[in-house]
Formats: sequence, C-alpha cells, structure tokens
Amino acid sequence: MSYCLHMSQQEECIFCEIIDGKHDTTVLLETEAYICFLDEFPVTNGHALVAPKTHIENLEQADWNDLFEFLQQAHTEIKDRYNPDATNIGLNNGQEAGQTISHLHWHIIPRYEGDLEDPRGGVRGVIPEKRIYRE
Ligand code: 5GP
Ligand code: ZN
Repeated sequence: MSYCLHMSQQEECIFCEIIDGKHDTTVLLETEAYICFLDEFPVTNGHALVAPKTHIENLEQADWNDLFEFLQQAHTEIKDRYNPDATNIGLNNGQEAGQTISHLHWHIIPRYEGDLEDPRGGVRGVIPEKRIYRE
C-alpha cells in the first residue's frame, strides 16, 4: 500500500501551488530559488518547511550546498521570530522515511522547554521505541 501522494505533474503538487501563491500560507522567507513557509499542521509553534521552488522530489535531485545556505538563513529567521529554546531540523527523504508530500522539503521544528517531558533522542524518534538509547 502506498501512503505517498505521488505527484507526477507540478500542477498537482500542493507545495508548487503554495510557491505559485495559490494559498494563503504564511511565507517566512524566500529567494529566487527557495521558500520557507509555515506548516499547516505544526508540531510546535513556528514549525516551518524549506523547499526549492523547482519541483524536485528528493535529495538525490538537489544541490545540497545551495540548499544548506538557505536552510541556515531560514533557521535564523525562525529563531528570531519564535525565540525557541532549541530546534530540530529534519528531512524525510523518500516514502519509507516518512515523506508524504513528494516535493523536497526540510522541516524546521522549534522546540520549547517542557514541550515534551523527556526530549532526549530528538530525531532518533523516527523509530519511536529507539529514541532514547540509554535509560
Ligand atoms: P512530509 O511528511 O512529506 O515530510 O511532510 C509534509 C508536511 O507538509 C507535513 O508536516 C504537513 O503538516 C505539511 N502539509 C501538508 N499539507 C500542507 C498544506 O496544504 N500546507 C502546508 N503549509 N503544509 C502542509
Ligand atoms: Zn511541487
């Protein structure tokens, strides 16, 4: 069974529609090549997504160096706006890794003291029972 919304054409992609200004999504930062906008179903306040404006599906098709520069700028922007205590940054690269929207994007998730009783392990939580490696 497939949980991934495979997008064969740019017109069918919700993120391409956001990039084209077809939704009232809050955009935090953008350049000619990249955009950072708020997630519609945020894990925490200020949860944002960073995506290239060109529809590519995964990291194998991306220019990593270029992406990282914008990711760093977006991270700074989110810290300035939301003043979190910490951040998680992650990317679900492929359906088996949890990607549900087939337009490459990083998640920047601001973290606040007390938002989880025991936050140890952070992104290790992609396999929930493995998040904490030492009791
Ligand atoms: P993925 O599972 O592909 O790594 O992440 C997809 C993300 O897109 C999820 O965090 C989800 O909340 C977000 N999302 C889904 N639909 C929309 C939408 O229509 N607008 C925005 N801004 N975010 C969305
Ligand atoms: Zn797209």
